[in-house]
Amino acid sequence: MEKEYLNKVHRYFRAGPQDKKLFSRVAAASSRQRGQILKDVNELIRGRGLAYGLLALYRQQVNCGFVLGDPLRTAGKEIKKFKDKTSGVSFRLLWNPDRELRKNHSLLIKRGVIAEHVDEAKLINRDKEGKPCYLCQKNITVQNPAEILHQLRLAGEDYYAGANFAYIENNHFTVMSSRHRDQLYERHVLAALNDFIEQTDGYFRAIFNGLAGASIPSHEHLQVTTEPFPVEGVRVRKKDVVFQKGSLRVVRPFYYIPLWIVEGRDRDEVTDAADHVIVRWHGLNPKDYTENVIAVKSDGLFRMFIFLRDTRRLAGEGKFGDMASFECGGNIVLSYEPPPGKGQHTNERKTFDSADIDVVRMLLGDIAPVIADVDF
Ligand SMILES: [Zn+2]
Repeated sequence: MEKEYLNKVHRYFRAGPQDKKLFSRVAAASSRQRGQILKDVNELIRGRGLAYGLLALYRQQVNCGFVLGDPLRTAGKEIKKFKDKTSGVSFRLLWNPDRELRKNHSLLIKRGVIAEHVDEAKLINRDKEGKPCYLCQKNITVQNPAEILHQLRLAGEDYYAGANFAYIENNHFTVMSSRHRDQLYERHVLAALNDFIEQTDGYFRAIFNGLAGASIPSHEHLQVTTEPFPVEGVRVRKKDVVFQKGSLRVVRPFYYIPLWIVEGRDRDEVTDAADHVIVRWHGLNPKDYTENVIAVKSDGLFRMFIFLRDTRRLAGEGKFGDMASFECGGNIVLSYEPPPGKGQHTNERKTFDSADIDVVRMLLGDIAPVIADVDF
């Protein structure tokens, strides 16, 4: 499985023997060889681009055990797909018990996800409960011994990409700002998403969860993955086009959560138009209205999928926890089965077993804002 996948990757990036050798060296390295790994990753990026370097780093983080399961392994996982004729989207439900490993404290220590002994004096930016920020680069260095961060420059600012140890999809990284600032929507967030998909030439998708489903609201972060989102296939009819000028097009297709798509070949035009939609949405209810954004680049076309969200409607019946970009985009990952005796808990296994297209529609309907539209 891994060999086949890697051959595909090498072919896609037209890697030569030297690149492959370097990639393999990174993938097989121990996190203790951090300096060498980062040097090699940077060399791969210089030669074959950012995406190729990140893929090598991701394999290293999987092979050393930091990523708690291997996304390439199919054992224990199950997939259900439902083609929805109304929206044109093929929704994907994944049963992935690997997600639950994140709750196993001793495993997290064994894998180097968290350190057994932490020098508390070295930790910065504590919240009201005294918990240090999980996304500050300084704290990661102290608390997460096996994690390797790659520094990036996005839209003129510094970020760090680190593999997500409880992955949702393959090559799932969290990309955090080098600065400790709130996860608040601003235009520059869209600029960073578009810069990332441009630098990886569409191989990666990039997402931003506003206050809808952001796990750590005190530190700005994006997420990226190489897995396409089912919503990319949403049907767009002529009547859905709200605005068109040159290559810029704004559409409002039928979907189960209010969805706006802004697309075009000019990155700044797309960023501005997407920002316009989000600012208008926030203007209707600054306290509660928020957003999930997925940025995709395909054949030179930037596409931003904007889901209008309401912080009072974050969870859906049958799914544990808040729903965010992955779910809005049509990739619904389920993993939680309550222990015996906790009958009142949401049982995601039951949801998975009984799922059909109506269950998916209902899940998404649960998180759709009640009043939901903006004028473009
Ligand atoms: Zn922080």
